[in-house]
Amino acid sequence: MAEIPATGDLPDELFEQYGHEVLGLIREFFATIDDRPVLATIAPEELRALLAEELPAAPIPFEETLRATREKIIPHLTHWNHPGFHAYFANSAAYPGILAETLAAALNVNAMLWRTAPAASALEEVVLGWLAELVGYPADSDGVFVNGASLATFYALAAARDSVGPWDVRREGLSGRDLPRLRMYCSDQTHNSIDKAAIALGIGLNNLVKISTDDRFAMRPDSLRTAIQADRDAGFVPFAAVSNLGSTSTAGFDPLAEIDGICREYGMWHHIDAAYGGLWRIVPEVRELTGDVGLGDSLVINPHKTLYTPMEATVLYCKRRGLLRETFSVAAEYLATSEQDVPNYMDFSLQLGRSFRSLKVWMIMRTFGVDGLRGRMQEHLRLARDLARQIAGHPDFELLAESPFGLVSFRARPRGMRPGPGLDELNQRLMAQVNASGHSYISHTALPAGYALRVSIGNIRTAERHVAQLWNALVAGLDALNAS
Ligand SMILES: *Cc1c(COP(=O)(O)O)cnc(C)c1O
Repeated sequence: MAEIPATGDLPDELFEQYGHEVLGLIREFFATIDDRPVLATIAPEELRALLAEELPAAPIPFEETLRATREKIIPHLTHWNHPGFHAYFANSAAYPGILAETLAAALNVNAMLWRTAPAASALEEVVLGWLAELVGYPADSDGVFVNGASLATFYALAAARDSVGPWDVRREGLSGRDLPRLRMYCSDQTHNSIDKAAIALGIGLNNLVKISTDDRFAMRPDSLRTAIQADRDAGFVPFAAVSNLGSTSTAGFDPLAEIDGICREYGMWHHIDAAYGGLWRIVPEVRELTGDVGLGDSLVINPHKTLYTPMEATVLYCKRRGLLRETFSVAAEYLATSEQDVPNYMDFSLQLGRSFRSLKVWMIMRTFGVDGLRGRMQEHLRLARDLARQIAGHPDFELLAESPFGLVSFRARPRGMRPGPGLDELNQRLMAQVNASGHSYISHTALPAGYALRVSIGNIRTAERHVAQLWNALVAGLDALNAS
């Protein structure tokens, strides 16, 4: 067996040997995933004690580290790749994406400049073009891969803030000046990343106006218009509105055309948060139903949520070309290169060093093809519709929201039981029971009707039997609670 030398990396033969072992571990993980608990249950203090160790001064054999990974780490993770993971928005990693991540690490690509990563930059352009075509965003837009939707939205709203008025916030900042109150708008169903953006952009939470929604959890355009007009009359400057395609609680969607019309009328930026819903538009019925995302000045979609891509991979588009660059590009002699007419992706966000995110999406899209991706999504939509039908048809359950995507929002409501704290508590206990089963993991939200359970179906490994197992657990769990 090769020794670990005092200088330099591991010997190649050891790398290959351990590589096979890691692949074996991955294979074994997926072969046994159905039988592993999806939700880790170990207590924090126990887990900390299990993993506490001295700073390793001397080398530790990699075999031992692999064993610790297998025995101490993997069993105490919550498994997002588990086919019974239905919490939040399902998010799973397909094999081609897993292999791409390994390759990207081996090549250690840093896609900050065209020159530092020519093929990665060119491939990023290709994949951005493919995804734009798939979801229906203008092909000649600016785009960039970033780490997550939260930051993508922050970047979009930064460009919005800097393009809206003559105040030159980029140079002069916001403080110590006589500036009007800038305001932005989103529905009361919007993800809290918009709040975070308001905090970090110097807009302030009090200037993020939450617009009420209708019984489908879609923003009311008339309320948006009224709020904007009232703010205008009060001397404020409305500068941006965010619409949802796949809102956070119930995966509803906003009327994009109407909101866009209002944004045009008032000279505002329209950002579309399609982090969850955007890529479901690969399915034609979903695309038809959910409107025209090309209307948005900017759009965010999350391959790491809806395209079976390992964390992290988000795409931000902005059809107002040049504005992301105007917001984030800063000249620095040590980064100057001579290439002309090529994207230097460091110019489109706050990130300088960037991993090779497009490779995993490229490998997934080529391996499955659009037809394969669409087929998988259609099957998950079918499973979600079937579950919704069963819930609607059961006398002790009720649906609480509709979604065109793979999310089902509902609650148990035993015959004759009124909404209120008792019913909320019953559903809380039912969820705890299902999540203690080990085979399924669901999450919840608060709706005007009360405590709601959410089942998100979209994990690449989720099949009919997993949803059946969940439904049986819900029905049996409710029976048990009623009997106790
Ligand atoms: C998941 C999600 C986000 C946040 O995404 P991250 O990539 O985790 O930052 C934002 N908005 C919506 C609608 C989402 O579904």
